Amino acid sequence: MVISDITREIKSEAKRLGFSACGIAKAEPVDEAVANKYRRWLEEGKNATMAYLQNNLEKRLNPLLLMPEARSIISLALNYYPERKLGDDQYQFAYYAYGQDYHDVIKAKLQELASYVQTLVDSPMTVKLCVDTVPMLDRYWAWKAGLGWIGKNTNLIIPRAGSFFFLAELIVDIDLEYDSPMESHCGTCTRCVDACPTGALESPYSIDANKCLSYLTIEHRGDFDSDILSHKSETAKDEADHSAPFVYGCDRCQLACPYNRFAQPTKIKEFTPKDEFLNMRPSDWQSLTVEQYRTLFKGSAVKRAKYEGLVRNISMVKDEGNQL
Ligand code: SF4
Ligand code: SF4
Repeated sequence: MVISDITREIKSEAKRLGFSACGIAKAEPVDEAVANKYRRWLEEGKNATMAYLQNNLEKRLNPLLLMPEARSIISLALNYYPERKLGDDQYQFAYYAYGQDYHDVIKAKLQELASYVQTLVDSPMTVKLCVDTVPMLDRYWAWKAGLGWIGKNTNLIIPRAGSFFFLAELIVDIDLEYDSPMESHCGTCTRCVDACPTGALESPYSIDANKCLSYLTIEHRGDFDSDILSHKSETAKDEADHSAPFVYGCDRCQLACPYNRFAQPTKIKEFTPKDEFLNMRPSDWQSLTVEQYRTLFKGSAVKRAKYEGLVRNISMVKDEGNQL
């Protein structure tokens, strides 16, 4: 089979497996300007305590160090935008955490796609499945592979689809047809920056995790200073007055993005939230026991925050009337 046919077959199989977008980039070191920006971001401590973003830095910036025989990177996006959501009178969770832990779901789909790609080529193929645990700049590769552009909120925006997507890659040792990166369509819009309640989006395209509620409510261990919320912009203050507080993650800079008006509910059944979760009222959360937590979040990514972390977030909202 010729390269163009193999490329077309891969994209069509990715679609069949439920991926919303699939693009392909040449496996090569990350562009120098992007690599320098990432190094500077780490040097300035903007990754907070997320040391894993610093580990294997050279491999993260060069997939050929991860897999020397790599020729192509197949970038994939899986939709997690929920059909049924928590109401405005309930505590909010980031949409990505509504259903089952995405790692296993994506890995199974990547494995299926890799097996299919192998059937298209004559000789045994070397392949690496990349979901979170492999040091890759997912958004960069998605951009490079033509899936969308990286918005001022630092998320990958897919045209006519938005940003509520998990990203993953297959690194393969076969040559394929490559897609072209997309220009930013953010234009003069600053809605995400204006909507951020903590000033974590210090400037367009740049985030300080130390101030980001996604980091603070999920990854950060121990208490955090609620003064961080005093940085609210006027726009964010207005919106916070009318919006329910987040107790796990934060989607405000994505919800503000006009491109997410195009978001369509996911068809991946594992990402569908349980009724018990959607029915939780603030008073239920405030009296959450470890046993309830374990039952509610069995097999869920929310386990990352641990029971203590979630309870800390809930009490911050309860005690101080905060809008996390
Ligand atoms: S996730 Fe929330 S806190 Fe973090 S940058 Fe976006 S709006 Fe700001
Ligand atoms: S809200 Fe506006 S500036 Fe921010 S990512 Fe979306 S389009 Fe870009």
